[in-house]
Amino acid sequence: MEFHSFLIKYGEIGIKGKNRFMFEDALVRQIRFALKNVEGKFLIHKTYGRVYVDCEEGYDYEETVEALKTVFGIVGICPVVRLQDEGFEELKRAVVSYMGEMYPNKELTFKVEARRSKKTYPMTSMEINAALGEAILGTHAGMKVDVHKPDVRLNVEVREEIYLYSEIIPGSGGMPIGTNGSAMLLLSGGIDSPVAGYMIAKRGVALEATYFHAPPYTSERAKEKVVDLARQVAKYAGPIKLHVVNFTDIQLYIYEKCPHEELTIIMRRYMMKIAEHFAVKDGCLGMITGESIGQVASQTMQSLAVTNAVCTLPVYRPLIGFDKRDIVDIAEKIDTYETSILPFEDCCTIFVAKHPVTRPELARIEESEKHLEKIGELVKTAIETTEVMEVK
Ligand code: ATP
Ligand code: MG
Repeated sequence: MEFHSFLIKYGEIGIKGKNRFMFEDALVRQIRFALKNVEGKFLIHKTYGRVYVDCEEGYDYEETVEALKTVFGIVGICPVVRLQDEGFEELKRAVVSYMGEMYPNKELTFKVEARRSKKTYPMTSMEINAALGEAILGTHAGMKVDVHKPDVRLNVEVREEIYLYSEIIPGSGGMPIGTNGSAMLLLSGGIDSPVAGYMIAKRGVALEATYFHAPPYTSERAKEKVVDLARQVAKYAGPIKLHVVNFTDIQLYIYEKCPHEELTIIMRRYMMKIAEHFAVKDGCLGMITGESIGQVASQTMQSLAVTNAVCTLPVYRPLIGFDKRDIVDIAEKIDTYETSILPFEDCCTIFVAKHPVTRPELARIEESEKHLEKIGELVKTAIETTEVMEVK
């Protein structure tokens, strides 16, 4: 079957009036972004309060559907056959052959649902339903009508052209990127943070990201891996402004001055501070991490509280109640897993203590940080030398 368009279905709750335009415009923008590397030419338009993707001949169907599945805000993707209006007999023929081709030799129940936006059409919707239903029954022996719970709803939309569709491919749901501001993701090379970014982006939040590396203790390959992960998340989230912070001097300094069992927690506090600096500067409304309660020493309830104490922006931790295997499932679904498990060194593990504190007290940590007289300068330098790139 050759499909000429896709009707894009989106959840309509709470998107009335002005919001509706914002929602649809963001959806169209994101569809355009998702299709930019897909073989073929596409016209994306809003007509009669609906969003369509018209495809030029020769486009790649599978690739197009896959790309549309990455667009948040889409709940269903309906492949459409478009016909010229060449009279009702011709429409009947086309509909009968559509049903035969879509559902070969099937025992199924169906219902025709015609809608006329072209009011000059010489038949009413009811008449179209009845006549097309009859034509299908007359040709396909296994098919029966069920107007209440049909297996197949055949939609026939009569406008300048006629649109036929009956399949709904599930979309990813969520809200279009850009309808809910932006947030700063702390992106490491691990499994969790790309998933965390994906989950917040799914609610319509555009992403920026910050990655801390520690050359020469971490390699160029480790950085490339993070860029790859950002690129994969960007397939869903749109372009991501990625800040790569050189964290080496700060880490070495903390290592020199602070009790080793507190290294990780102090280091995490400085990561949050620096990421927040970029977040505030760019107008992000929150920060995102891949933390989950109790996963490691730096993610106990006490550690999270101590880390959180340096932040003024809200910190979103969408994986907070997830087990590792639940996170891995999502990582596999969004295709970040294989990259995340590549074995490159992580800046956090390099100076890690054998027995890190699991119940840090804020007052003690703040006391230890008093020994870091030069840290302000080092943070300033780290910020000034940060490399910024757009990943898409
Ligand atoms: P992940 O799989 O996301 O790396 P993790 O289980 O390794 O998480 P931690 O290393 O404790 O856990 O990191 C917790 C969170 O802190 C990460 O999810 C991420 O948001 C942030 N983070 C850790 N290391 C870095 C880094 N080098 N650069 C940026 N953010 C980081
Ligand atoms: Mg990690």
